[in-house]
Amino acid sequence: MKQIREDEGNIIIGAAVTHSEIIESDLVNQYFPALALACSMIGSHQIRNTATIGGNLCTCASCADTAPILFAFGASVEIKSSSWSRTILITDFFKGHHYNDLMKGEILTSIIIRKPSFKKGSFAAHYEKFGLRNSAAVSVASVAVSLRVEDEEVVEGCIVVGACAATPIVCLKSIEMLNGTNISQVKEGSEFIKLLGETVAKEIFPIDDIRGSSNYRKDIVRVISGRAVLKALSNIGEKA
Ligand SMILES: Cc1cc2nc3c(=O)[nH]c(=O)nc-3n(C[C@H](O)[C@H](O)[C@H](O)COP(=O)(O)OP(=O)(O)OC[C@H]3O[C@@H](n4cnc5c(N)ncnc54)[C@H](O)[C@@H]3O)c2cc1C
Repeated sequence: MKQIREDEGNIIIGAAVTHSEIIESDLVNQYFPALALACSMIGSHQIRNTATIGGNLCTCASCADTAPILFAFGASVEIKSSSWSRTILITDFFKGHHYNDLMKGEILTSIIIRKPSFKKGSFAAHYEKFGLRNSAAVSVASVAVSLRVEDEEVVEGCIVVGACAATPIVCLKSIEMLNGTNISQVKEGSEFIKLLGETVAKEIFPIDDIRGSSNYRKDIVRVISGRAVLKALSNIGEKA
C-alpha cells in the first residue's frame, strides 16, 4: 500500500502513498502529471508529506482534490477485507459527501489507472483548482480535463467538476460537445471555449456556503473549464 508500481496496462498507486510521494514519482509524472499537479495543490508541505491519497479518497469530501482528475482518468479502486477483494470504478466509490462505498471490514488498498495508449494519438490532461488563497486553500470549485487528440480531433474527452456537489460531476453534455471538435476551434477567447464554459456551468447545481455562493461557483466554473481544456491541449505532445 506504500508503493507506486506499473504492470503492462496500469499504474497502481497504493492507498498509503502520500501526496508528496505522488508529486515526486517518476511513474506518475511519466504517465499522469496532472495527478501530481492535483496533489501539489493540496494543503501545505506538512499536509502533503503526511496525508495519503487513500485518506483523501476515503474521506470522500466533496472538495477532495485527487478525486476529479481520477474520475477524468476513469480510474478504479481496489478494496480488500480479510476474506475478499473487489475492484470498482472510482465513480462508484464516491456515494456522497463523506460517504463512500466501503463496507464493514473493508479498506481501500490501491488506485488503478489504465495507461493511455500513446500509439493512438496524443493523450493529455489538466487539473484547474480555484481556492480563496494560493496555498492551503480548500477548492471552491475545480475542473479536471483529460482528452486524446487523433488527426487534429478531440476524442475520448472527459470534463469533471469538483467541489460543486456532493461528489465530482462528470459533465456529459460538455463531453459530448468536446468530442469530435477540431482543435483549431479550441483557442483562447474562441466561441467554442465560451460555449463550453456555458455548457459546463449549466450542468452543475452548486450549494451556497462560506467559501462562495452557488452563482459565484458557476461563474468560476464557466471560466476555469475553458482554461482547463486549453491547458490540457497545450500539454498534447508532452504528457498527460
Ligand atoms: C490543514 C489541511 C488542509 C487540507 N487541504 C486539503 C486540500 O487542499 N485538498 C484536499 O483534497 N484535501 C485537503 N485536506 C484533506 C487531506 O488531504 C486529506 O484529509 C488527506 O489526504 C487524508 O489523508 P490521511 O492519510 O491523513 O487520512 P486520515 O485522516 O488518516 O483518514 C481519513 C479517513 O479515511 C479513512 N482511511 C484512510 N485511509 C484509508 C484506507 N486506505 N482504507 C479505508 N479507510 C481509510 C480513515 O479511517 C479516516 O476515516 C487538508 C487537510 C488539512 C488538515
